[in-house]
Parts: sequence; C-alpha cells; structure tokens
Amino acid sequence: MIRPLARPRRKNPVLRTRQPLLPPGGRSRAALGLTAAAAIGRFELQVCAACGAVQYPPSEVCRGCLVGALRWREQSGLGELLSETTVHVSHDPFFRERVPWRLGLVRLDAGPTVVAHLHSGCEAPPSRARVAARLDKSGQGVLLALPLHEVPNMADDPELREMTAHPKYRKALVTDGKTPVGQALVRALIDAGADLVWVGHAEPWKQQPGLAELEALPQTALVPLDVTDSRSVKQAAAEIGGKVDILVNNAEVHRTYGIGSRSGIEPARAEMDVNYFGLLRLAQEFGPPMRARGADGASSATAWVNILSIYALANYPPHGTFSASKAAALSLAQCLRAEMRPGGIRVVNAFPGPIDDECNQTLPPPKLAPAALAKSVIKALEDGVEDLYPGDVAEEWLARYLESPKTLEREIGL
Ligand SMILES: [Zn+2]
Repeated sequence: MIRPLARPRRKNPVLRTRQPLLPPGGRSRAALGLTAAAAIGRFELQVCAACGAVQYPPSEVCRGCLVGALRWREQSGLGELLSETTVHVSHDPFFRERVPWRLGLVRLDAGPTVVAHLHSGCEAPPSRARVAARLDKSGQGVLLALPLHEVPNMADDPELREMTAHPKYRKALVTDGKTPVGQALVRALIDAGADLVWVGHAEPWKQQPGLAELEALPQTALVPLDVTDSRSVKQAAAEIGGKVDILVNNAEVHRTYGIGSRSGIEPARAEMDVNYFGLLRLAQEFGPPMRARGADGASSATAWVNILSIYALANYPPHGTFSASKAAALSLAQCLRAEMRPGGIRVVNAFPGPIDDECNQTLPPPKLAPAALAKSVIKALEDGVEDLYPGDVAEEWLARYLESPKTLEREIGL
C-alpha cells in the first residue's frame, strides 16, 4: 500500500527555508556510465566483450577474466528481491532528514546482486522486482527496485519522488503561453496534477488565440513575461520566482533560413535574443530562488526544462541561424545544470525534431505534434530524466549523431 501524497500545507512565510542537502555524489569515472544512461532513462551495466559477464559495481576491468573490454549495455533489471531492510538512523545528513528509508538486495537475472533503494510498492522478499537506474538529488545514477507492475499511487512513493520531478501538487511556469507548444505544455502540466501553472505572455495587449481558454482554467494564472526584456524578467521573478517549482522555458524565435539567403543579421539577432539571451535572463533571475528551494518539502522546487531542438546537436543549414542559437542555448543549459545541481534542481533538456507548427509548414512529415512534445516532457519529469529526444526524427538524428557527429554533419549538409 502506498500512501497517496497529501496536498502540502500552505507555507508559513516567516519560517526559514531549509538549505538543500544532497546525497553523497562522488563517483569514479567508470561508475559515471551508470549516471550517463540514467540521465536518458536507461538502466545499463558493463558487459565484458570477451567472457560476457555482466558486472556491478562498475569497474575498470572485467572481474571474470581480467582481459575483456567492458561495454555499457541496456538491462531489463528483472530479478529476485532477496532481502530488505529499513534504515531508521543514518549518519548522512541527507538521509537523516528522510528516514525511514527502505533498501533491498536484488539478485538480477543477468547475474550480479545489487543493493538498491526499495520502492514501497515492492512485495516483501522473496519476490520479483525490476531494478531501474534513476538520478538522485545530486544528479548521480542510483539503483531503485520497483514493483513489476504499476501499483496505485506509484509515483507518490517518497523515495521515487526524491529521484523524479513529478508535477503533482507543484507550481509551474511556462514562459510562453501564446504558442501551440506552450499551450499544450500548460494543459499537460495540469493533467499531471500541477497545483498552479503560470502562463507567461509577452505583449499582453495582443489577443492570442487559445490564451483566453487557458486563462479560464482554475489552475492557471497569466503573468506578463517578455524574455527579451531584462526588466520584465526581473519583475516576473520578483512576483513569482520564490514559488516556481518547475520552470519550462519554451520561448523561442524560429526563422527558416541559412546564411546566404538573407542579408543583415537582424533576424539572427532576434533568434539569439530569445533563444539564448532569453534563457540567460531567466536563469539569472529565476535560477537562484529555485536553487534555494530544492529541499522545501515534498513539493520543493525541482526542475528546469529547456525546449531546445535536435538542430542544437548538428546545424541544419536550411534553418542555420536557428540551429546556431539552439546550440548556444544548449551550451548555456549545461552551465545552468552544473549551477543548479547543488540545489538538487534538475535541468532537463528537450531536443525535439521539427514541430508541427508555422515555422515548419513547408517541411514534409514526420513532424512532432505540440501535444506529443508536451506529453514527453511530462514523462521526462515523472521519470526524472535529464535529456529527452521526442519524436522519430529526433531519435534517428540522435542515433546518427552518437555513431558519428561528422557523418551526420555531412549527411544533412548536402
Ligand atoms: Zn570478462
């Protein structure tokens, strides 16, 4: 039985917010392979190319034969829960605040026996369980044993909630509510249980299709926000910055040309001003208050989502300047991720392929529907992943990019 998460009480504004604490985060270079896979939602272990042994904990050499090369390979995680224990006293400050904490010993069908955090939906041992890799509050890969099948209130398990960024009972900001993607994100956050979604809109004097319907929903509030205007960003942060638990930055300008097809730099500058400097302005104003609230109870500040583009990985010349602005935003997002990590805030980067919107009208399918993009962002928050590549095009580009960035550059630059 999992106790459903209770709606958090209104905070006493006089009380001090606790400093965010993190679980131990040191890892060897070999062990970071587990973290890298968990960041994209996969559970991988090292497999020896010579003797086929599956290894855990990660190491530099195969413990079976001492010679084979080790490669990270995806695992089903299925195994037998052999025993469990509940920690009531911990010398670690992070866990001391969170006990009781359940741990289990799982013998994986693939071979190794692992110690894992234990979801409260797992039956008492001996029983079957599925081990998954998740990122903990310090952004490191850890193992979590989950029940084989979905159980009621599964996401409300306190251990799982520490490792994810579930929108339930949280307050979110979507920075641009005038676009179809922004509106789909707002609706998806509400469907996932968000308490309140602030909908950013520049140019409040303009009528925007769909915005009035959003405003009529009881869980939304419009907030004037123009990411190209430092004063506007500052003002919005002064008003709501201390309350935002999940920030989704979807504000973007997207022009569809390369270098030679236009003269002058104004369109490219407009792209940079929103796609890159917009992120920087938001990060400067909203980053520090969010980072300070990373340990603020069960509905603490938890995630910062950037809607980037798969073109951030490799420039797509017909959308050349847009690609460049998204590559700049990706680089900045990596900096933001490192700076937000000490507060336990996860920076989530979404790399969608072409979206089915005005800018891609002339592009043949497949294109990603705004609702599908919103759905995958919510899933990423619920699963606690850092990078997501929604849609067929993005997945295919990623696979080609991982195989050879240079080959991909040549293929798309033809
Ligand atoms: Zn071996």
